[in-house]
Amino acid sequence: MREIVIREELFASETELCESMALELGFDDFSGGLAELIARLSDIVEPVRIVMKHTSLSDPSAEAEGMANIEGMSRGDEMDLDWFDVACALLERADDYIEPLDVIVYYDDLDADEPNEPSVNVRVSARAALSRLAQGNRDYLSARKDDRNISAGRIRELFEGGQQPYAVVVACADSRVVPEHMFMAGLGELFVIRVAGNIVGPSELASAVYACDHLHSKLLLVLGHTHCGAIEAAMAGEGQGAVAAVTGAITRAIGDERDPYVASVLNVRAAIDALAANAEIAHLVREEGLEIHGAIYHTHSGVVDFLSECVRCDKETGRLSQ
Ligand SMILES: [Zn+2]
Repeated sequence: MREIVIREELFASETELCESMALELGFDDFSGGLAELIARLSDIVEPVRIVMKHTSLSDPSAEAEGMANIEGMSRGDEMDLDWFDVACALLERADDYIEPLDVIVYYDDLDADEPNEPSVNVRVSARAALSRLAQGNRDYLSARKDDRNISAGRIRELFEGGQQPYAVVVACADSRVVPEHMFMAGLGELFVIRVAGNIVGPSELASAVYACDHLHSKLLLVLGHTHCGAIEAAMAGEGQGAVAAVTGAITRAIGDERDPYVASVLNVRAAIDALAANAEIAHLVREEGLEIHGAIYHTHSGVVDFLSECVRCDKETGRLSQ
């Protein structure tokens, strides 16, 4: 597939953009604006991907409003919309009906990925995060429908404001064990690290450190579950080949325990220990109010049991308690 990358900062106007794109597409005798260019694109046969790279957000509120009202499309200039946004929207629409055309609109604004000046006041404490999870699970158990906000507006808000998840969850990759569902959490609320058997190896540890340190989450929850295939495989002595990376870690955690529930709890405890053994996490527990907790999700009922397993800093002694 041919790929054309359009960087917003290289073009001052729609005319310049169209000239450059026409040249790259080999439309030799082309003249005109975006509408003409899209008309020519309708005839292409070879697949073409156009990557539209934004470099900055002009006025996010005006832009968001404009996007919501863009149905008329060609009236973009009347609505104080950035011409590049209009070009992106028109091309994305063309992508819907021109089969060989693939349009990707991409924001190059890496600063947006971390919260904008997170203030101490808006950070959610470990205790508050725990009760929010517990309430979320109660809602989940009685929910008849789900009205979480997954709107375009919410996606955009999180992009512009950055993410500030109130909890980090290390969970199994099992398709029935979905933290966002069981805690009724919306976009941007949970930083979820999923791996078969909810083990903590180097990648999981690195992800947890990133979330707790850079995103300032105060609760780190290791979520095991009942009927875990990875634990059952470890107990059965299975796990040859690549799978051994998971079953080996579980075997070290559970020893020769034969009860699957107890094994799940032991496995959660081992993950908590692996997290707490990391110097950066221990520092955050000591200085920043981070707490590490454990829980078990009951696959048959949807209930989350919060365990007494926990690592926090004792305010009086300054020691980590477990
Ligand atoms: Zn599992």
